[in-house]
Amino acid sequence: MIDFKICKRCKETKSIDRFYFVTKYNRHENTCKDCYNEKQRAEYHKNPAGQKAAVKTWISKNRDKHRVYTKNYAEAHAEQTKAAQRKYAKKKYEERKAVRNEFFPHKPIQPFNSLSKANREKLYIEYNVPKDRWV
Ligand SMILES: [Zn+2]
Repeated sequence: MIDFKICKRCKETKSIDRFYFVTKYNRHENTCKDCYNEKQRAEYHKNPAGQKAAVKTWISKNRDKHRVYTKNYAEAHAEQTKAAQRKYAKKKYEERKAVRNEFFPHKPIQPFNSLSKANREKLYIEYNVPKDRWV
C-alpha cells in the first residue's frame, strides 16, 4: 500500500516517497521533495557565503561522516571523479606554467610542476611571486 501526503506548500497530494524522511523526528517532511529542494535553493542564493560557511562548519564537526560520504561518492562516481581530477591537474599545470613563464622563464616546467607545495613556495618567495599567484 502506498501512503499519500498533502504538501504544505504546493497543496498537491503526492506519494510518500516524494517526501524526505527526517530520521531525527521519525516522520516525513511537511513539504514535498520538489518544494523542499526549491526552498533550499532559494535559501542558498539568498546567502551563498553563509551557506558555504555552514557546510564548512558541519564538515569540521562531522569529519568521519564526511570522509565516508566522500569515499562512497568517489566510488560510485569513479569515472567522473577521475575526469575531474584530470581536469584539475591540467588547470593547475597551466596555472603553474603561466607563473613560471612570467617569473622564472629559465626554470624547466616539468620539475617545477612536480615539486612539493613547500618547495614551490620556497621558489615563489625566492623569485618574489605575489601571494595571489601561488598555485
Ligand atoms: Zn510541494
